[in-house]
Formats: sequence, C-alpha cells, structure tokens
Amino acid sequence: MLKRIDLTRDFQKHKKEYLEAIEAVCEETAFSGGKYADRFDQEFAAFCKVPYAAGVNNGTSALHCAMMALGIGAGDEVIVPANTYIATAWGVTYTGATPVFVDCTPDTWELDPAKIEEKITDKTKAVIGVHLYGQPFEFSKVKEIADRHHLYVIEDCAQAHGAEYEGRQVGSLGDLGCFSFYPGKNLYAFGEGGSVTCYKKEYFDAITTIKNQGCQVRYYHDVVGYNYRLEGIQGAVLSVSLQYLPQWTRRRREIGRRYLRQITNPLLTMQAHPENTSPVFHLFVIMVEDPHHFIAYMEALGMECNQHYPVPCHLQKAYEGLGYQKGDCPNAEYLADHCVTLPLFPEMTEEEATMVIEACNAYKGIERS
Ligand SMILES: *Cc1c(COP(=O)(O)O)cnc(C)c1O
Repeated sequence: MLKRIDLTRDFQKHKKEYLEAIEAVCEETAFSGGKYADRFDQEFAAFCKVPYAAGVNNGTSALHCAMMALGIGAGDEVIVPANTYIATAWGVTYTGATPVFVDCTPDTWELDPAKIEEKITDKTKAVIGVHLYGQPFEFSKVKEIADRHHLYVIEDCAQAHGAEYEGRQVGSLGDLGCFSFYPGKNLYAFGEGGSVTCYKKEYFDAITTIKNQGCQVRYYHDVVGYNYRLEGIQGAVLSVSLQYLPQWTRRRREIGRRYLRQITNPLLTMQAHPENTSPVFHLFVIMVEDPHHFIAYMEALGMECNQHYPVPCHLQKAYEGLGYQKGDCPNAEYLADHCVTLPLFPEMTEEEATMVIEACNAYKGIERS
C-alpha cells in the first residue's frame, strides 16, 4: 500500500544524523528551550529571511502567541478563511476574540480577498491569511484591504515552509508568520513544534515572554504567560531537517507539477496555482464528484488518499454558537464535499507517482445504470 504520506523513509535515510542530534541534546540535558532550540530559531529566521523567529511548542500556540503579541482579545474580531485547518481559528478564540469566517475563491481555494471587506466591522483588528496546501494566498490584495482598514495581517504558514509569493518567502510578508512543525508538515519535528516569524523586535520580545511563563528574568513574571517553549530535542532535529528542506521542496514541486501536467481526467478538478506564486505542494488536493467512491477506488489499487478537510470551519460543531449556516461560505462548502488528497511526499518514487497518475486518469466515476 502506498501511503498518503510515509515518514519512515526519511527517518531510515537520515537516521544516524537525527539520532546524533538527539544524543547531543541529551548529553547537555538542554531539554526545554536552551541552546539547541535557540540555534534553530536563528537558522529558521535566516531561512524565512526575517530578523526574528521564536520557536514554540506547536503551530496552534504560534497562532495564539501572534494574537497576544498584537494585543488582540475579548471584543475583537479577526478575519479567518472558512477553508483551513481549524487551528487557524483556535488562536483567535483562545484570546477571547471572535473569528469571522470568509469564503475561499472557487479556483485557488484560498482566502477570497473580494469577500473580506463586507465582513469588516469597527471591531475587526486583523486578517489571518493561510497559505493552504502550500499555495500562497493572494497576499497583495489582502494587504491592500488590510492597510485601508488599519488591520494587521498574520500569515498561517503551517503548510507552506519555503513557498514564495512574488519572489518573497512566506512568513516574511505580513506582520507575523506562524509555522507548525507537526509530523507530516513540510518541515517537521519528532513530536510537536512551531515558530513565529517577524521583523519587529517588539513582537519577538513579547512572544519570547509569553511562551516562557511571562518572564524575561527567571522567577519575575511581568505578564500572565504560558509554557509554550520549543523542546531542545525538537530544535536539534529541526536543525537537521532544515538542511534537507530545500531538496524536499524540490521533490514536492517535481511531483506536484507532474500531477498537474499529467492528470488529465476531466472528472478531477485541480487547484489553480497563480503565476506569481511558487507553491510547495504540502497537500495535493483535487475535487471529484464523489470523494468516498474515489478514495475506495484508489485504495483497491493500493493507494491511500484522504480528505482535507471534510467540514469547513464555520460549520464545525465547536463554532455552532457563532450562528453560521450552510450556504454562508458556498465555495468552501463545495470543496469540503468534494475534496480528496492524493499521495505526495518527498521520498515518493517516480514509479509511485506514475501509479497515482495512471490510476487518476483511468478513473471513470460512478457507473450509472
Ligand atoms: C497544522 C496546522 C496548524 C496547527 O499546527 P499544530 O502544530 O498542529 O498545532 C495551524 N494551521 C494550519 C493551516 C495547519 O495546517
């Protein structure tokens, strides 16, 4: 069975390096924060082409820290795409602010800038754009609207490490960039991890304090803080992985572009990838009339597919209280009902990619009698 994503291949290939990195942390007992976490922060900031990166314990915390660093809280509203992983909205909700969900475009499936303005009120403080599936959202248009209304722009880069928008690295575009290193993300820890990138020292200092129990000087707590530090072992593993990220990205792009070129079945709809972006193909999502039928078809041929995401954020039970209805974000709802994610990961072979392409092209849909 070809898995949708198989991390064991990477581990087997670079096992010695990973284990040596972990051993070094153990020898120095630099387990929580510390030397190896700090070193990774510097390397990751350089990779994202920003002065600062603050490592945290996961991507959800990164989003929460970003909201807190901007002073967002109860009574505020933050624009969030309806089509994203739910954690984009959690960071807003944790502060007491309200996520306001906006539909995606019908072709890129990313945040639709044309639908933002109608959702802006005098309570709106920020827009979180998500570079979903590794495809940068239309930053310039979002930024132009945000500037006009004096809103912050936060990038959720959890699926887009290394992606570019008009030649600029994601995580360096908005006020703050939020990353996840969850296993399976383009850059991943051996456990949980995340980072917040920024230009302003003021934000970096705020996040460093928040993630470290509210203190700069140990045992002197200036604000109510959280324990959101990045673990030393994760920092050390991430420093190893970061060296491989450019070659992983190259492989993802090769496979992704092959799929785009060679999957020609009219029953399958591809995501649009605008010319001014350089996506990193975190997830290769397609649309098909009956996703469950297609997933069973692929499974019978030895290929695992799944769905990202079957329920859009505004219709999740957790957000029932916000009062959204079916029909509020029609493009996101249509996508949720028709999406399938194909196998794609850097260690996949050309033969496996060919097998996926051939299976997709041979798909005939549900036989009608
Ligand atoms: C993974 C992910 C997150 C959350 O990151 P965790 O590290 O799992 O907390 C947030 N937003 C998006 C778009 C993600 O894919």
